[in-house]
Amino acid sequence: MNATAPQVVPYQVVLLFGPPGSGKGTWGKILNQIPGFYHFSTGEMFRMLDVDSDLGYRIIETMRRGELVPDEITFDLWQKHLHNATLIGRFHPPKDTLVLDGFPRTPRQAEMLNRVAEVKLILKLDCANRDILVERLHRRAILEARLDDANPSVIRRRFTVYDTDTEATLRNFSEGLVEAIDVAVPPVQILSAIGAALARRLA
Ligand code: ADP
Repeated sequence: MNATAPQVVPYQVVLLFGPPGSGKGTWGKILNQIPGFYHFSTGEMFRMLDVDSDLGYRIIETMRRGELVPDEITFDLWQKHLHNATLIGRFHPPKDTLVLDGFPRTPRQAEMLNRVAEVKLILKLDCANRDILVERLHRRAILEARLDDANPSVIRRRFTVYDTDTEATLRNFSEGLVEAIDVAVPPVQILSAIGAALARRLA
């Protein structure tokens, strides 16, 4: 089967959205442990590319500049990865729920996703007081020496970019699919809120 061949059965999808520091990647990895769930992050997909290949080099350079990888390339690689994961038996669509982290990130990507997927739920991780997220990122920056997370004005800029991109991207989905998850509460409560939302929407 060709990776670009029309897909007959749509993927059953949960989307994870959240600003920097919201714990999106952490929760995605936790959901991946649940039988019947397959978590996939486009950021990780790009970071695993071979920098010695022409495409890999161009993509890593784009990421280094802090820019988005072009939509067509992103979608093409995304589809190929899922196709391969299906072939090797790690992902079983449509039985498995696909948890997407970092995709879609633009309205065009959302349109492309809607052609091959049925979005069941959009988990929007956030909190009313973003100072809490700045504080978390600051702590992580010190622990992991991540300089991009150490500067509060850079973090605020990333929040603005996230808010603008997310608003535009989410216009392509029904508002009723969105469940807001407050990440200012203790982790067990976040887990419980995510679990309840999944149980309601995927039952
Ligand atoms: P962050 O949330 O800090 O941006 P990610 O790991 O999600 O971290 O993404 C890292 C980089 O990978 C992005 O800055 C961008 O260059 C690229 N990237 C990830 N997802 C996408 C996407 N859906 N479309 C285009 N580029 C993407």
